[in-house]
Amino acid sequence: MAQQWDVVIVGAGTTGMVAAIFASRRGARVLLLESAADIGGTLHISGGNMSAAGTKLQKGKNIADSVQEHYDDVMRICHNTADPKIVRLAVEHAADTFDWLTDSGMPLDPVCPQYNNGAHEPYLIKRYAWGPEYGKSIYKALVPMFFAEVTSGGVTLKLSTRVTGLIQDPRTRAVTGVRTKSADGVALDYHGQNILVATGGYAASPQMVARIHGTPLYSNGSMPEARGEGIEMIESVGGYLRGGDYFHCNFGVVLNDYDYPSKTIGRVVTMPEVRQPWEIYVDSRGNRFLPEDEPSVDKRERALVALPDKRYWVVFDGAILKEAPPVMERWSREQVTAALGNHPMFLKANSLAELAAQAGMDAPTLEASVKAYNDNLKGTDPLGRKHRPRPIGSGPFYAIRQHATIIVSTAGITVDGDLRVVDRQGRPIPNLYAAGEVIGSVATMGDAAANGMLVTPALTFGRLLGDRMLKWEKQRAAAE
Ligand SMILES: Cc1cc2nc3c(=O)[nH]c(=O)nc-3n(C[C@H](O)[C@H](O)[C@H](O)COP(=O)(O)OP(=O)(O)OC[C@H]3O[C@@H](n4cnc5c(N)ncnc54)[C@H](O)[C@@H]3O)c2cc1C
Repeated sequence: MAQQWDVVIVGAGTTGMVAAIFASRRGARVLLLESAADIGGTLHISGGNMSAAGTKLQKGKNIADSVQEHYDDVMRICHNTADPKIVRLAVEHAADTFDWLTDSGMPLDPVCPQYNNGAHEPYLIKRYAWGPEYGKSIYKALVPMFFAEVTSGGVTLKLSTRVTGLIQDPRTRAVTGVRTKSADGVALDYHGQNILVATGGYAASPQMVARIHGTPLYSNGSMPEARGEGIEMIESVGGYLRGGDYFHCNFGVVLNDYDYPSKTIGRVVTMPEVRQPWEIYVDSRGNRFLPEDEPSVDKRERALVALPDKRYWVVFDGAILKEAPPVMERWSREQVTAALGNHPMFLKANSLAELAAQAGMDAPTLEASVKAYNDNLKGTDPLGRKHRPRPIGSGPFYAIRQHATIIVSTAGITVDGDLRVVDRQGRPIPNLYAAGEVIGSVATMGDAAANGMLVTPALTFGRLLGDRMLKWEKQRAAAE
């Protein structure tokens, strides 16, 4: 049986919920299909840190800001690698999105707005803000508005309903509907004038990460449904992926084991503004690969991504363990000491050669790295490191393994400035739209991480699509 809708939205997460609210308010008959048993998607775990220029929050604190300055800041941070038209669309409407949420009751952490929160490169102007419950604060603001549209009959929500494919007219290339399968195995097709794919990213899919980036998914930091299914269904109707050459990762994460994707158990403090390094960082062979006190988080992440296996070791000795502030975030010295030699990621050895053997490093390379570091302590560090309180002197020696982990997807489906999915010739695929993480962080942050430039665009694009970009017969008839 086929059913016809004005708007069919795939995914009731950040983008999908907002698109549904605004399309329904504009009079559309909206069908919202969600594979999980609940709405909200990534908002349940997201930091929910937003960025917007010209907000009521900023004005209330006399912070002068503009869309152009936000745009320039994002493009500076990502080295002009994001899609200019998508960044512009996002920042032009970000303040309206932010003010809409705060006017709708979303509380804010009183310290906001900020330049950054330490995780990414700072903005030049304070425009970064979040609620006390992070992504949940956004979710809680959206829920009453969303269910008002469900109650009014504008939005029909079908949970535990997985979209398995798109229906395309081979003559016109138009996408006219979706194929679904419910959790109890019932297959049903739905047809609509607009199909919006808002299925989020692929950061929980080892297969997609291997396919796109050629690297293992070391840990799973996203929701289980972040499997990239939206990408695959759009590719099957002529859309294509961009940004696979980039890989945005976190620096300094310690895993539980080598059975990838593994749980994470903590992180080494790698932010020099929080704790200056006493240790050296070496790659899987034993070579140092960056100045360990590098102040730019972007540069640290880039250095890690450039390593062939995107992993490294933090190496130190007994004196450093004793004298330096604890190397692990929120771990005491006793906890670190207890783990060393007793956990696959925390090694302990009497000599550097033995440490290298345990770690799978090349012993002469590690020994040479340590010797060069020590020999240069009275002069200039070849990598430019400034903070060098003492040598890596005598055993026991220690190493803690770090992996490049991800929580979001860098690559994504290519869209035009109206969020229409395009083919490789740049032609829109009729009726088909994509927004949110399915278009990849590459669209709004390029090869880096710009504060708030995922969750804010996801909300904003949902709002713009529902409010004005999607068109349906009823709307056209009313306007005529
Ligand atoms: C831990 C974490 C912290 C983050 N912190 C920040 C931050 O501070 N600032 C920031 O800007 N960004 C942050 N992000 C990223 C940001 O939250 C997400 O990119 C954004 O919320 C994604 O929105 P979305 O609508 O694209 O996807 P989602 O919110 O994930 O929604 C996608 C929905 O589609 C559903 N779905 C998937 N496949 C199917 C299918 N085949 N059929 C039907 N439904 C399907 C999913 O179940 C889900 O409900 C963070 C992400 C994570 C994981």
